[in-house]
Amino acid sequence: MKQLVAFDLDGTLAESKQPLEQAMAARLKALLDIAMVAIISGGDWKQFEVQVISRLPPETNLARLFILPTTGAKLYRFADGGWRQIYADSFTAAERAQILAALERAVADAGLRPERLWGPQIEDRGTQITFSALGQAAPVDAKKAWDPDQAKRSALQRRLADQLRGFSIKIGGTTSIDITREGVDKAYAIDRLVEHAAVPRAAILFFGDAIYPGGNDDPVRAAGIDSVRVRDPAETVAIIEALVAWNR
Ligand SMILES: [Mg+2]
Repeated sequence: MKQLVAFDLDGTLAESKQPLEQAMAARLKALLDIAMVAIISGGDWKQFEVQVISRLPPETNLARLFILPTTGAKLYRFADGGWRQIYADSFTAAERAQILAALERAVADAGLRPERLWGPQIEDRGTQITFSALGQAAPVDAKKAWDPDQAKRSALQRRLADQLRGFSIKIGGTTSIDITREGVDKAYAIDRLVEHAAVPRAAILFFGDAIYPGGNDDPVRAAGIDSVRVRDPAETVAIIEALVAWNR
């Protein structure tokens, strides 16, 4: 019997960087009435506030919700009327400098400087550095058109892997690459979740849109957690509806 349903955020619960649709927020509230829920994303806490927390209906059972920003390098929980950071595993200054230099070089070498940028390309989230090829604020349509077959990001991923030993480099979202310490991937997030939610691994069900070789959701499947690949948030909302009805 599953006790905890874990989700990727971008491409799974919401369109990339967009707030949850109202139907999704309502389904998550219903799911939280019957199970613990965890959301794992490369995004930082601020992004979760905008995309998820602010969208949840009143009376949502927040005490059962586990928020894991920056691919589980941080955990937030709701307690005593507010959201609290439970832990954060941040980069050292030397690690940060090494990553930024490697990114600069790899983007130049791969010839991937875009003609137009929407906001900064590099976001330093303390525990994770994310490269967004078209900028943090790029429109969804432009992002979807940029690298539909992931060829550009795969090339970048290979160049970065050569330069950044001891770090994990994953393709995520539609234009982004997430860099964390090696071992900090979504499987790591699940390990921390098991510890903090006190549930056995077999009681976790995971949904993600990037469950394929090189995808940022794939480590969860590879770690033996029951994992289901979804196409998009519309598919996820239907699945949650089914889970809730099945347990009613
Ligand atoms: Mg995703």
